[in-house]
Amino acid sequence: MNIRKMQHVIIIGAGFAGLETARGLANAPVRITLINKNNHHLFQPLLYQVAIAGLLPSQIAHPVRTIFRRQKNLAFQMGEVTEVNLDEKFVKLNGSAIAYDYLVLAPGARTNFFGFDALEKHGLQLKDLETAVATRNHLLSMFEAASREADAGKRQAMLTFVIVGGGPTGVETAGALAELITHVMRKDYPRLNLKEARVILLEAGTNLIASYPDELRNATLRLLREKRVEVRLNTRMQDYNGQRVTLGDGSIIETQTLVWTAGAKAATIIDTLPAEKGSMGRVRINRTLNLSQFPETFVIGDAAFLENENGHPLPMLSTVAIQQGQAAAKNIRLLMEGKEPLPFHYKDPGLLATIGRNAAVARIFGVSFSGFIAWVIWVFLHIYRTIGFRNRLVVMFNWAWDYFFYDNQVRLITRE
Ligand SMILES: Cc1cc2nc3c(=O)[nH]c(=O)nc-3n(C[C@H](O)[C@H](O)[C@H](O)COP(=O)(O)OP(=O)(O)OC[C@H]3O[C@@H](n4cnc5c(N)ncnc54)[C@H](O)[C@@H]3O)c2cc1C
Repeated sequence: MNIRKMQHVIIIGAGFAGLETARGLANAPVRITLINKNNHHLFQPLLYQVAIAGLLPSQIAHPVRTIFRRQKNLAFQMGEVTEVNLDEKFVKLNGSAIAYDYLVLAPGARTNFFGFDALEKHGLQLKDLETAVATRNHLLSMFEAASREADAGKRQAMLTFVIVGGGPTGVETAGALAELITHVMRKDYPRLNLKEARVILLEAGTNLIASYPDELRNATLRLLREKRVEVRLNTRMQDYNGQRVTLGDGSIIETQTLVWTAGAKAATIIDTLPAEKGSMGRVRINRTLNLSQFPETFVIGDAAFLENENGHPLPMLSTVAIQQGQAAAKNIRLLMEGKEPLPFHYKDPGLLATIGRNAAVARIFGVSFSGFIAWVIWVFLHIYRTIGFRNRLVVMFNWAWDYFFYDNQVRLITRE
């Protein structure tokens, strides 16, 4: 078939959802244009490892062009889509309009600072490679600054690390940072009294990792406390000015570091879409993952809002994004054949979060467990899910090295 006459599918976003849709259409009689802001796919679940100097950015990201080298019906374009016109079926990219027959919006989410301008200015976040590297630079710089600071109060503030948000990212970052201090920085800074260092995890709710079952929440709390993380539940951050955190009860924590992991909202391009929105600005979609008024338009992954059969919103997780990407590809094929698209059912593969060395919590096939076995599963699953054989080997080597030698190798302070 003449390639020009083929139906044109535009996919916005080469994250988990966009990648799966593109793969699912590999042998379909369509022409695909995959558009992404950056030239790489990013494995966001390991961003915190970049921030705590455990992995290099290149080990958790992979060029999109390499991933799709062999897929002949796909062309990649790097750039940011600035406009989506659902009525006239085109998107605007780098100043040009590109027409489509089917559109898959998979632009993910961004950090939600809930209108706290000061927090956005002074806080650190983990959303992309730039913010993760900036966090690493800042954390490592604090140890350098503390090592030359004679004033005990100022030194204490430099060695106080506050993480806001007791979800999986906050928990993983707090556990890994506490271990970086006890196992690695202690050796790098023998003259610095690292007993002064504090890692404080603030959570406004009554529980950590609220979506997990009770036994795993309790295990997480215990494991973090064993690693000397100060967990403060029912504690709301009120303000942060780069020097001190003010809490809801008026008390103050002097610190130059605040990592914000407490909020997400749909990507900017979603704001402009004339569609009904659910929580966090996400687009409310049909069970078939498309829009009622524009059935050729699919919204999937973190940018989409869909409730499961019990009325609970599906979580913003890579597993949901992957399954929706696969389902969207199938439904586009069905629509092209003049058939009805199928409703999406999320198959929950279980829950997993790591709290550091030998410590993780998991719920798989309805069974909850924590500690070493959960951690081994976490390690192997994350190595398996990392894209690219070379990256898998390097990540495995890095983690084995860190494990046996108590040494995070990527302790580099780089300047932009
Ligand atoms: C720090 C962190 C830790 C996490 N840990 C876990 C975990 O342990 N387990 C888990 O299952 N999930 C985890 N998640 C969530 C998981 O990463 C997301 O659910 C998943 O990435 C969503 O996939 P997506 O394809 O919808 O979006 P993304 O993976 O975010 O991809 C969206 C892509 O679209 C691009 N884009 C956005 N706007 C535009 C535009 N206008 N034009 C062109 N391109 C655009 C972005 O640059 C990005 O590449 C974590 C997320 C973060 C941030």
